[in-house]
Amino acid sequence: MPPHGDEVRNRHDVVVIGAGPAGEAAAELGGNLGYSVALVERDIVGGTVVTSGGAPTKTFREAAVYFSAHVDQIPAAAIYGLPEVARAGKSEEDCAAGGIPYATGRCELGTTPRGVIAGQEGLLKLLFHGGTGVLLGVHAICEIASEIAGTGQALIHNEATIEDVIRMAYNTPTYTYGYKLAAADALARLRPDMLRAMRLPSRAHRI
Ligand SMILES: Cc1cc2nc3c(=O)[nH]c(=O)nc-3n(C[C@H](O)[C@H](O)[C@H](O)COP(=O)(O)OP(=O)(O)OC[C@H]3O[C@@H](n4cnc5c(N)ncnc54)[C@H](O)[C@@H]3O)c2cc1C
Repeated sequence: MPPHGDEVRNRHDVVVIGAGPAGEAAAELGGNLGYSVALVERDIVGGTVVTSGGAPTKTFREAAVYFSAHVDQIPAAAIYGLPEVARAGKSEEDCAAGGIPYATGRCELGTTPRGVIAGQEGLLKLLFHGGTGVLLGVHAICEIASEIAGTGQALIHNEATIEDVIRMAYNTPTYTYGYKLAAADALARLRPDMLRAMRLPSRAHRI
């Protein structure tokens, strides 16, 4: 039979009600200071975080996330060297193999303000869908190509068009500014028939 309240009170210097993190810490401190401490818990020792809140809910959440995880369909890869080589999305070979019409645009990164300051060469190549102008692939070679490809991956996920990529305001001097120049190059290179047929969904309001 558990001891009665008065019995507990009379036997101990300190009585802590509740064995959650706060109660446990208080009881431990009391004990360390040399007091006789009673820790009273009406349910399960550990409190909310251990019994019903943090740990259990996060365990369920992590399990659910694990089993429902969305697998990114956009391939991305980088080779970390000097310089780095990185890509996200489709390559020209992918488009050719899949019969996907495409247009490419390039930016010599060494000619951008960042490249001039750093004294580094590099290349950024963008692939756009020949029918819709949507960005399909990003390929970069430069000192931070892996970082640059990340921006492209986000743009691909959001189905950014040539227009979106050109209109975006980029920090400068950055290599990322090369996106604007490469997209402008793609627009200039587009065959007139492709350009006429292209349905560019203007989404400038989203940027
Ligand atoms: C869903 C969720 C997720 C959380 N995630 C985190 C996290 O990731 N990280 C983090 O730091 N915190 C997290 N928290 C917060 C954390 O649970 C609380 O900050 C912490 O439990 C508070 O500790 P406590 O000791 O003050 O109270 P509690 O943990 O609530 O403990 C109180 C204890 O007192 C007992 N008790 C109450 N009345 C009596 C009584 N009259 N007699 C005897 N015993 C009694 C209760 O049964 C209980 O065991 C989360 C909380 C929730 C609900």
